[in-house]
Amino acid sequence: MTESKIIDGKAFAEKFCGEIAAEVATLKPHGTPGLAVVLVGEDPASAVYVRNKGRQTVAAGMNSFEHRLPASLSEDDLIALIGQLNRDDSVHGILVQLPLPPQISADRVLAVIDPAKDVDGFHVVNAGRLATGLPALVPCTPQGCMMLLKSVIPDMSGLKAVVIGRSNIVGKPMAQLLLQQNCTVVMAHSRTRNIAEECRQADILIAAVGRPRMIRGDWIKPGAAVIDVGINRVDNENGKSKLVGDVAFDEALGVAGYITPVPGGVGPMTIACLLQNTAIAFKAQRKLEQA
Ligand code: NDP
Repeated sequence: MTESKIIDGKAFAEKFCGEIAAEVATLKPHGTPGLAVVLVGEDPASAVYVRNKGRQTVAAGMNSFEHRLPASLSEDDLIALIGQLNRDDSVHGILVQLPLPPQISADRVLAVIDPAKDVDGFHVVNAGRLATGLPALVPCTPQGCMMLLKSVIPDMSGLKAVVIGRSNIVGKPMAQLLLQQNCTVVMAHSRTRNIAEECRQADILIAAVGRPRMIRGDWIKPGAAVIDVGINRVDNENGKSKLVGDVAFDEALGVAGYITPVPGGVGPMTIACLLQNTAIAFKAQRKLEQA
């Protein structure tokens, strides 16, 4: 039985946000970083995320600009708004909250965000820069996972990392970041054969699937570092809903060396990294530092 260390993402993110706020204060002579968040429609989960992002942006000493638009908005009108935000000197970061309503193509919208203001790191220019090892605005969730991992395994060189999930926003950039750390990376997905066996070989296991408790205790190599990105709402015994990850946390305890909880693991780091990206984008646009 391994004693599992729970990685407290909430505490880590709070400390990190404090550091970002301190840096933003030192940047004051050059202006105030500004983050524009665009929400189309009334998806309740998205509305909560946007409210939290706005609150934390202001708490870090930055300007928050929220654009709440009706679900009936046309793609052309959203693209026109992004054009305005691209030209607005008080806006250094632009985030379009996903998902978008069906009449709007997320790919077309993300493509018109100025890559220098693309604080989500979803633009193909930033994805390409990350893949080729150039400085880039890195997607926030994998960046947050990497910070948590580094806090417990400073040198990952030569370790085997398995990433379950190959989305553009989590799985693929996560694999790139692990490669940069000289891990041997396996990307697993819905067509992977014998996924449990792949996982059992992982010194580092990243679960980004969106399936509650899919990764069982006996899929985990004893002592492995397990980062659970999944956020799944399920009903508990009392008929009330609760959040669980992609990892069966209770089973993983006692096997994993390190594990992130859900909630309170990766989630808080995502917003912290968004604030960091906004500060990075500000400094690059003000020519204080390269992005
Ligand atoms: P996507 O739905 O875009 O991708 C899910 C991935 O999981 C796909 O690559 C899919 O494979 C793979 N997959 C699905 N079913 C299986 C299976 N049975 N076995 C193996 N692989 C499977 O999700 P996201 O990447 O956007 O998000 C993943 C999870 O992370 C979700 O729970 C989401 O809520 C959460 N999330 C959390 C964030 C945070 O801040 N903590 C931020 C972003 C996401 P294939 O490509 O073959 O279809």
